[in-house]
Amino acid sequence: MLRSLRNKLVLLYTVSTGLILLIVMISLLMLTESKLEEKRLEAFTNHGDTIINKLQNENVINVTWLTQMESKNNLLLYIEDNGNPLTFKGVLNPPTNRFILIGRIRSLAMYDGITIDINPISFNVTNSNTYTIKGDNNDIYYGYVSVIPTDRGWRSLTLLQYLPNYYSAVTNQRILYIVLGLAGVLALFLVSLRLISRMIRPIEESNRNQTAFIAAASHELRSPLSVIMANSAAITTTSDESKNFLSGINKECKRMSRLIDDMLLLANMDTKTWQIKSEPIEIDTLLIETYEAFLPLFRQKELDFELDLQEDELPIISGDKDRLKQILCILLDNAISYTPTGKKVTLRGYNTEHHLNIEVEDQGIGITDEDKKLIFDRFYRVDPSRSDKKHFGLGLSIANDLVQCHKGKISVQDTEGGGATFVMRLRV
Ligand code: ADP
Repeated sequence: MLRSLRNKLVLLYTVSTGLILLIVMISLLMLTESKLEEKRLEAFTNHGDTIINKLQNENVINVTWLTQMESKNNLLLYIEDNGNPLTFKGVLNPPTNRFILIGRIRSLAMYDGITIDINPISFNVTNSNTYTIKGDNNDIYYGYVSVIPTDRGWRSLTLLQYLPNYYSAVTNQRILYIVLGLAGVLALFLVSLRLISRMIRPIEESNRNQTAFIAAASHELRSPLSVIMANSAAITTTSDESKNFLSGINKECKRMSRLIDDMLLLANMDTKTWQIKSEPIEIDTLLIETYEAFLPLFRQKELDFELDLQEDELPIISGDKDRLKQILCILLDNAISYTPTGKKVTLRGYNTEHHLNIEVEDQGIGITDEDKKLIFDRFYRVDPSRSDKKHFGLGLSIANDLVQCHKGKISVQDTEGGGATFVMRLRV
């Protein structure tokens, strides 16, 4: 489902940004093409002006100069003096016969009302429009006709310029833009794929965690249910031991209820529907109360239990007393479970300038460095087979979430000489 969402988002992003890129590139292409055309026309007009100037002011036209003009600038010149063609025959050999081309330009000019063959009335130079014409071999030319009054009558100029690279320049430019456009769209696709994959990674992870959570919870709930079912089935067949079976049912129901409470608490913390109280807490009192409540349990398991408080009074912090007690219960409960008889557990409280530290130090089986990274995960148990049915692997993840709600940190380190020490650090 997430993969198809990612694909849809990538497609949407690429298509929308690609379209914008395409519009920008087409506009840019049109602009450069029109600029290129403008430049070409300007160069052609400049050549024309130079020739007209010469024709107007000089009586004798130098053939060498005309030859150079033609060959250097790809021009075709046809000049008449008072209606008589010059002897200059031209040197440029374009793909189409020059006289056919000259004839076409002159016809176009005459069609536009330019009189070439009779002495003009006006004393000014008259130019026709500039035409772009095609030769017989897909060759392209600019051309126009100019009628120039002189002291001795008039001269006419039919000027053409052959544009040998007209199509290839445009085609090359278009190919360049297409390649750039495709590269741009490809880059957009890759960027969007990377960005969107990164964006949906947290969703994927939370999905994975949720699935793992549901799988582990279902597994945990299945075993008490099968006990309940077996016991209740046994009651119907044997009436003598029914008390034992009923107590089994009761025990498993309590276990299920505890598990469901834990899961509800975690779910509420995840969805943030659960609010932590903020009240002043005397930590000394909290630690003493917890110590006294747990002492009988430690004695029962023949463990030495010590309360180690610094001499100065611990600072009062703001938080949720019941939740802090719950964290301590989880840590002490674990210490009892994972410390062998005869060893010692210490509940310690001390503060630094900015922090209050509460430690539960045991001399138990300890935790390997690898497991230290995992024990705060939901349903993680170092040795699942060792389960004494009281432990679901949720305790430390609940403790971790509760400490985070208090903007604190919980960590675990080795006890000197063996065992584990859990340190809860809260801001004062
Ligand atoms: P559980 O309910 O199984 O105790 P926790 O989340 O409280 O779940 O702890 C996760 C795992 O961390 C336990 O299964 C246990 O293997 C390990 N662990 C927790 N506390 C201690 C401890 N004091 N000493 C050694 N191992 C511990």
